[in-house]
Amino acid sequence: MNRSLTSVLVANRGEIACRIFRTAKRLGMRTIAVHSDADRDAMFVAQADEAYPIGPAPAAESYLRIDTIIAAAKASGADCIHPGYGFLSERAEFAEACEAAGIVFVGPPASAIRAMGLKDAAKALAEMAGVPVVPGYHGAKQEPDFLRQKAYEIGYPVLIKAVAGGGGKGMRRVDRALDFEAALEGAQREAQSSFGDPRVLVEKYVLSPRHVEIQVFADAHGNAVSLFERDCSLQRRHQKVIEEAPAPGIPAAMRDAMGRAAVEAAKAVGYVGAGTVEFIADGREGLRADRFFFMEMNTRLQVEHPVTEAITGLDLVELQFRVASGEPLPFRQDDLAIRGHAVEARLYAEDPAGGFLPSTGKLWALRLPEGEGIRVDTGVREGDVVTPFYDPMIAKVIAHGATRTQALDRLSAALGRTLIAGPKSNVAFLRALCDAEGFRSGAFDTGFIERDLDALVGADHGPDRRAITAAALALVERPRNLSRPDFGRGLDPWDELVGFTTGPRRDTVVPLIVEGERIDASLTFAEGGTVTASLDGEVLCDSRAIAVSFKRAPTTTFTFGEGATGILADDATAFMLTAGRQTRVSLFDPFDVDLDRIGSGGAVKAPMHGKLVALFVAAGDRVEKGQRLAIVEAMKMEHALLAPASGAVAEVSAEPGAQVAEGQRLITLDIDA
Ligand code: ADP
Ligand code: ADP
Ligand code: MG
Repeated sequence: MNRSLTSVLVANRGEIACRIFRTAKRLGMRTIAVHSDADRDAMFVAQADEAYPIGPAPAAESYLRIDTIIAAAKASGADCIHPGYGFLSERAEFAEACEAAGIVFVGPPASAIRAMGLKDAAKALAEMAGVPVVPGYHGAKQEPDFLRQKAYEIGYPVLIKAVAGGGGKGMRRVDRALDFEAALEGAQREAQSSFGDPRVLVEKYVLSPRHVEIQVFADAHGNAVSLFERDCSLQRRHQKVIEEAPAPGIPAAMRDAMGRAAVEAAKAVGYVGAGTVEFIADGREGLRADRFFFMEMNTRLQVEHPVTEAITGLDLVELQFRVASGEPLPFRQDDLAIRGHAVEARLYAEDPAGGFLPSTGKLWALRLPEGEGIRVDTGVREGDVVTPFYDPMIAKVIAHGATRTQALDRLSAALGRTLIAGPKSNVAFLRALCDAEGFRSGAFDTGFIERDLDALVGADHGPDRRAITAAALALVERPRNLSRPDFGRGLDPWDELVGFTTGPRRDTVVPLIVEGERIDASLTFAEGGTVTASLDGEVLCDSRAIAVSFKRAPTTTFTFGEGATGILADDATAFMLTAGRQTRVSLFDPFDVDLDRIGSGGAVKAPMHGKLVALFVAAGDRVEKGQRLAIVEAMKMEHALLAPASGAVAEVSAEPGAQVAEGQRLITLDIDA
């Protein structure tokens, strides 16, 4: 490689910082991290040759501070800055600030970022370049009445989109005129808070939509190619969940037409480097060469770039460095071919059964899969903490195979080998998705997940009762016995079980907190030294079912039946994993417990750290079960808080605009008797 770039500062964090460092190291470059206070001990910081603190945890005070990052780059003598995705990656001012400081920005020219930065201007540009765009209004007027009139002319259903949008935020589908105004208000509010720009566009909602995007690459010598398509139609709330390449069922003529259109769009803005042109395809009659429309161009490396790497055999980050250092692309379009099929799943710390709210906390156990055709990109290690400050992605699991079926089989099996304890995760949800008949057959669109959500998430039967009793056994036996290889096989109860050292045989009540609720389990001795555990008199587990499988301080992993795994985190907490669901069980310590957080009763609490953006009730109001009481905005998304039961509002304990902490009581209801 051209010797001009010998060091790189990555202005990002997490898995993408690790990903970029990996290639940089292979190319012999010096690697420089910048990090917020919350990331001081993060994996990407440990991997870098050098690291510079850039401010407090909130991104606005650290990862979004152009001046501080440029100062760190100068202090470190970095030749170039790679922005990753998100954060400053699509900010033209950042590219300009790099240039002004004499540092190479690994990305397109500021002018190209600017041209594609706003969806309205980008659509106008694409139209001029002869690329088909979704019919709609992308002009300057923003009056609600005017936009409603436009929606009527376009014809429902329509999609309202933040002009400055990204990450699926600031977007509302509207099916009838009646709902337009409320949707517009929501989209504008989200657009303002996420992007500081309330402007929206209105476009036709394409039916049976398939999200198919083209990876483009251009150099500074006028060459531009398509690295083929990715299908990202498996989405939830307009955010990608599983992505694959190539797109199932795409005719060769459509691939060629899309590739040409994407290259045209890139050339129209003088594009250089890696970029993605996103199209929405009308999939009502399958994918067809005349039924795709330009949506937007992402002027950066994409989260799902690994599937393209898998099917092309290229390292896109290496190509980015080569192009940034002035080299021409080392291939032409005709040199490129697709090899096999690749699928990526985004593994998140979130709770599918709890409305997919991000789930934070320490990763007590993290075992990511390995195997033939499997690649894992992650930015966290066992013992790390998932904080509320950033995107709660744990890892991307990528599977490559000769065929789509083989790739999906490999992905499914890899997800089955994944073990996460601490924060809840979407691993079981991803696996269900990966195995879903409609997805396997290729007959899916962007509504697939939402339509089948209940089946994919699995019925919520409440905490697993057998898991609770197994946890009670394990928690009481620890710390002395669970490490013994003969645990559960005929230990002498008289000196082995806590609480049974002396005195006559009797039952022991084990007071527990299960997912925030107080529950008592009881342990009883049976003949032969086994201990049985029961809930409300029902015997559900005994000590012979428990077998220690793995120990790595500070945790002990055990099984308690087929597909049932428990992780003893510390002396008082166990995470029980059954059918992909986690039940957190702790020994109840009356001196160390926040009584306010036990049993929800009439307390309506913040589901996570965030900001109270709207409050719809006041003390004295009557509310019905399910009624919307307030909105908390967190991770740039709005979460409605609903009344858990009918009653009267006794107290409101926070004001709109306030920052609220996870678990903080916001509203208290007097529930109807
Ligand atoms: P890509 O197009 O590169 O796959 P997306 O369009 O899914 O990425 O996301 C765009 C940006 O939004 C990314 O930079 C990503 O960091 C961010 N993002 C994606 N999902 C979430 C999320 N659940 N919460 C917050 N930010 C997200
Ligand atoms: P973002 O910047 O948030 O990624 P996009 O414009 O790329 O916004 O749209 C995100 C997702 O919303 C798309 O992947 C697609 O699923 C859906 N979407 C966008 N535009 C349309 C449309 N006109 N019709 C149907 N679905 C759409
Ligand atoms: Mg997009």
